[in-house]
Amino acid sequence: MADSVNALPFFYGNITREEAEDYLKQAGVGNGSYLLRQSRNYLGGFALSVLHSGRCYHYTIEREPNETYAIAGGKSHRSPVDVIDYHSQEMDGLVCLLKKPCNRPKNMQPKVGPFEDLKEKLIREYVKQTWNLQGAALEQAIISQRPQLEKLIATTAHERMPWFHGTITREDSEPRLQNGSRTNGKFLIRQRDLNGSYALCLLHEGQVMHYRIDRDRMGKLSIPDGKKFDTLWQLVEHYSYKPDGLLRVLTEPCPRPDGEIGRPLLPRDHPGLSSALSRESRHNTTDNLNPYETRVPSNQAGSKEAMPMDTEVYESPYADPDELRSSTVDRNQLFLEDGELGSGNFGTVMKGIYKMRKTEKPVAVKILKNDDNNPSVREEMLREANVMQQLDNPYIVRMIGICEAENLMLVMELAELGPLNKFLQKNKQTTIKNITELVHQVSMGMKYLEEHNFVHRDLAARNVLLVTQHYAKISDFGLSKAVAEEQNYYKAKGHGKWPVKWYAPECINYFKFSSKSDVWSFGVLMWEAYSYGQKPYKGMKGNDVMQMIESGKRMDAPMNCPPEMYDLMRTCWTYKADERPGFTIVEPRLREYYYDIAQ
Ligand code: AMP
Repeated sequence: MADSVNALPFFYGNITREEAEDYLKQAGVGNGSYLLRQSRNYLGGFALSVLHSGRCYHYTIEREPNETYAIAGGKSHRSPVDVIDYHSQEMDGLVCLLKKPCNRPKNMQPKVGPFEDLKEKLIREYVKQTWNLQGAALEQAIISQRPQLEKLIATTAHERMPWFHGTITREDSEPRLQNGSRTNGKFLIRQRDLNGSYALCLLHEGQVMHYRIDRDRMGKLSIPDGKKFDTLWQLVEHYSYKPDGLLRVLTEPCPRPDGEIGRPLLPRDHPGLSSALSRESRHNTTDNLNPYETRVPSNQAGSKEAMPMDTEVYESPYADPDELRSSTVDRNQLFLEDGELGSGNFGTVMKGIYKMRKTEKPVAVKILKNDDNNPSVREEMLREANVMQQLDNPYIVRMIGICEAENLMLVMELAELGPLNKFLQKNKQTTIKNITELVHQVSMGMKYLEEHNFVHRDLAARNVLLVTQHYAKISDFGLSKAVAEEQNYYKAKGHGKWPVKWYAPECINYFKFSSKSDVWSFGVLMWEAYSYGQKPYKGMKGNDVMQMIESGKRMDAPMNCPPEMYDLMRTCWTYKADERPGFTIVEPRLREYYYDIAQ
């Protein structure tokens, strides 16, 4: 949303209410002229300022938990622009109809708030510190989890601010303010308890004033009877430009004593985070344990994992050379558990534990059927292992090693929630945002494959496995091939047992496989995901599907599929491979849409 709103000529960014009034009055456009600005107290919200009979009126456009926008108490709309369009036709509580946008003066960009500048640095530092990540793993974590990280940072950023002194007493706070400069308006904030209550301590004519900051049931922070805010830093920003009930404005942050830094950030015990999240969970009737786990029964394995980086399979098992020196797994270190995870062409897949030097790892073990005396199946499995061994990405199931014992076994990272199509069939309440998050992760894994010149050739929702409800990995490299960089496609010798409904026309007509044909399959995978695991081209035979594609027809949009996502599917189903986008284009398009609906 942020990017698309930024492009609006009447969006001013982080300006104050007073600045908005000046712009509206100076423009002289008259009654019903309006502008849009960023809300300075509600995260992700906006404010609409309207001029009527020489006076300015301001309305907050809140972002609601189901990704819609509304003026408090009013109708919900898909975007702030839709709110404006609506109120240009209907007053519905506004002082007048919105008549004319008051555009920004020439060469003025929307104003960036002070937090925006800090945000990038804080996110990077947070991910580095919390999960000890660096390099590509760090970048991938930020790309895939940006909306969640931004929220986390926004609600905890105060801990890094010099004015935040943590849980000190009222008595401790006073000498800190009296020490050094005694500027009027010098201030600090201390934490009063663990329920999210704080105090603002302000120096005024040599005296320290203490104002309570309480958190209401909605999670909003305010000084008694004062304006409400989502975060402490927004509160500080507000009272730094106007006293608004305080004895004076905040001027100089009182620094923490030397060497004392904010309490270390812990992902799960943040008062700020938990309350920001609990706001969402109030709207979540079936699961209020963890709102990141929107509406999936909390008994789902892994449902408490908030982010991919919290799981054991985010970081590469190859990262520690002491642990995985060879790709051979010692049978004595491998313990198989009862019950199978699934079965495929080769045999069964069992859950197991692999005991390594320092740690042990839950694993999935693909076991080649013993009674299979067909040597080509064995070769196929070894070929799959060979491909997997060359890949190392958080959104691809990694191979741990091969184990030759009573059977040939392929030991892999465990993705316990199983195939995406089955998961969605069983969990129909999964939100569009959640589906988009997962599909975006698949596109990240596919972008990695494309960059490394591998074609998957069997990309489908059944071959995307879930580690948690918010973490997808691409699996099943049985048909995958490395391709030469110059030629960049694989030519099959003949038609095999192919998943035709997922194949691009050039695969069927010319046996030609490339990353572009994987993009076609990815479009079908998207269709499966947004239709909650339905079978594509239901009831049709392979030949009928081919005819349908040749005639220029494509599958209809799944019910309730966002138009932006159906549009992307259709682009993936561009007939000519040359004109079809690669994953370097598909991934950012998904990313942009995901950020839009998630932020
Ligand atoms: P495949 O032979 O690769 O198609 O795997 C057959 C089934 O085994 C899959 O549909 C999954 O249900 C399960 N499976 C395969 N690999 C894994 C894994 N790494 N983690 C968890 N389950 C898996």
